[in-house]
Amino acid sequence: MKFKRVSQRVYVNTEGKGGGNVGIIVLNDFVVAVDAQYPVSGWEFRRSISDVTTKPVKYLILTHYHQDHIFGSQAFRDCEIIGHFLLKKRIEENIKTIWSKEEIPKLIEDAKTNRPEVAPLLEGLEVILPNTTFNDRFMVDDIEITHTGGHTECSSIIYVPGDEVLFAGDLLFVKRFPWGGDPTADPDLWIEAFRKILEMNVNIIIPGHGPLSNKDEVRKQLEWFMAVRSKMKEMISNDTPMEKVIEYNGYPSFYESDRPTWRTSTLEHWYRKWSNQRQLFGF
Ligand SMILES: [Zn+2]
Repeated sequence: MKFKRVSQRVYVNTEGKGGGNVGIIVLNDFVVAVDAQYPVSGWEFRRSISDVTTKPVKYLILTHYHQDHIFGSQAFRDCEIIGHFLLKKRIEENIKTIWSKEEIPKLIEDAKTNRPEVAPLLEGLEVILPNTTFNDRFMVDDIEITHTGGHTECSSIIYVPGDEVLFAGDLLFVKRFPWGGDPTADPDLWIEAFRKILEMNVNIIIPGHGPLSNKDEVRKQLEWFMAVRSKMKEMISNDTPMEKVIEYNGYPSFYESDRPTWRTSTLEHWYRKWSNQRQLFGF
């Protein structure tokens, strides 16, 4: 795996061949890795770090619980693996169900049919848990990890001060339609996270997927999210049925979705979220 140097201390790979984007922060005495892709690509990521530095890798920070970001954690078993406490809870639940030892061969078989590009990367999969969790905020040296929620309930951002670099995880899909249909996704918190990022002293944003980016992309996505929210809530308050809300073609134009179901599943999830909100609190 080849890294691109993006600042004094930060190197990334945003090719997306082996899963979500990954990066490293080279500190004085040790290295912090961010996200881990899939097992095979996770090992390749780990091995490639020595092309950049001889310092030991001491930490792996996970931005959220999705498999394309955490399945490679096993290559960092000797490190302190850091994630939000809800990330640990989610992985624990999945280890008992869809990611159990018995289910993993099935998961790999399914991938051969549904995600053939991913299947070879799953070889040797063993899902492991973070060994350090946090609630709102966690520091590693001067690196700040902040929980935001949004894309998932455990989504967190990683700020590298001085370098003015931010790892946004999957809060940002650059130049592509975001996956907002996770059962724990919260579009309101996502909007708050975008606003928080725009207030930060950040020049370079490393998204979860897509090329290096900056606040212009965040601003663009924030505008779209807000426009969809206001239109969708308006339709919900007029009792417009879900199919009509999803099919509505007056939302501002935005990226096409990588996968055909992403847009629909995302908008359905948001519709349900705001419909519940209306029932509970009214708007
Ligand atoms: Zn994700």
